[in-house]
Amino acid sequence: MNVLVLNAGSSSLKYQLVNLETKTVLAKGICERVGSKEASHKHGIDENEIVIDAEMADHNQAMGLVLDALVSGPNKAVDSLDEIDAVGHRVVQGGKYFDRSVLIDDYVIEKIDELAELAPLHNKAALMGIEACRAYLPGKPMVAVFDTSYFQTLAPKAYMYPIPYELYEKHAIRKYGAHGTSHRYLAERAAVMLDEPFDDLKLITCHLGNGCSISAIDHGIAVDTSMGLTPLDGLMMGTRSGAIDPAIVTFIMDHEDMSASEVNDLLNKKSGLLGISGISNDLRSVRTASEEGDERAQLAYEMYSNSVKKYIGQYIAVMGGVDAIVLSAGVGENCDKMRRLIFAGLQPLGIVLDLEKNKARGGERTISTDDSAVQILVIPTEEEYMIARDTFDIVHESLAGRDAAAALS
Ligand code: ADP
Repeated sequence: MNVLVLNAGSSSLKYQLVNLETKTVLAKGICERVGSKEASHKHGIDENEIVIDAEMADHNQAMGLVLDALVSGPNKAVDSLDEIDAVGHRVVQGGKYFDRSVLIDDYVIEKIDELAELAPLHNKAALMGIEACRAYLPGKPMVAVFDTSYFQTLAPKAYMYPIPYELYEKHAIRKYGAHGTSHRYLAERAAVMLDEPFDDLKLITCHLGNGCSISAIDHGIAVDTSMGLTPLDGLMMGTRSGAIDPAIVTFIMDHEDMSASEVNDLLNKKSGLLGISGISNDLRSVRTASEEGDERAQLAYEMYSNSVKKYIGQYIAVMGGVDAIVLSAGVGENCDKMRRLIFAGLQPLGIVLDLEKNKARGGERTISTDDSAVQILVIPTEEEYMIARDTFDIVHESLAGRDAAAALS
């Protein structure tokens, strides 16, 4: 089965065509700056990537270009659209309605729309992707895979905020988390690497990319996560502040004469590594500058590692221990220096990084010492593969159900 995985952002459309039987990526690409004059479309795998300047007024047109590139041109992946069997959509906000991935129907579309209040840019973009697929690929089964659903197992003591309860009742203000697809994958792979039943483990999974989040997974169940009502909460990130004293928001509004949406922009796009270093949201540039003696870059580095370290401590306390800590995404997978800072001083907790293993690169690996009580694992995340796999499983199940019903009738 070939599954087209779509990840629609406010002005972008990322995609991969995945063959589930062979576990291969047949094609991938991204349409960027959708709706602007500078729109571009990158299509192809690694060195075969081509960049196509193309006009795309909206996600619908972008979708048309993607499908064209999949069936024609130098990097075509399949001969016709008939070879695409199903579509898996990444949807950011599933609210309280979805605790797992689901087959998309009118009810699901209605709920994704209703939940757009909580993630305006992302859920609306996902809806545009879904509508475009309905137009171009009529009748193809589609599955929604939610960033939040993995965290629907959180108990009220973990997901409620200590603000007036009526605000939860009125606006559904609570923690939903994000990056759930990544954390689910990391936890599953960790159990395989440790060769232990998933349900016996206490895990802390760290997704450290441009966006960063960390989760506590206790005996197979997510019990806490750092992102909140929105992905702004929790760890310090590339451009997002993560958790700060909430009074800072009104202080900035008063003293900098900013509106609520301007402060929202400042905390989401101008803070984090970028805000502190004044150089970049990209950790590589911050690292280079810090090694050249830039003090603010050095500070940004230390604040970032400290932010991760503090959450690791919190989650060890929440679970009463930890068997393994998993690191993933751009920073977690690649930055040995950041990993060294994160684990420095945690030896009394039985967490001992092996400095030599930490320097190795590529693939799944263990980077703790042989006698470390807690294992430290690096696992490259595979969100697209998870979306494809969920899509495959759900579509298979529904086809089997249909066949069974037909046999009975
Ligand atoms: P996202 O998917 O959230 O956009 P990624 O998972 O690709 O982000 O992670 C991007 C981050 O990873 C950037 O801050 C980038 O600098 C960092 N990164 C990637 N490779 C390295 C490296 N070799 N050393 C340090 N940081 C790295």
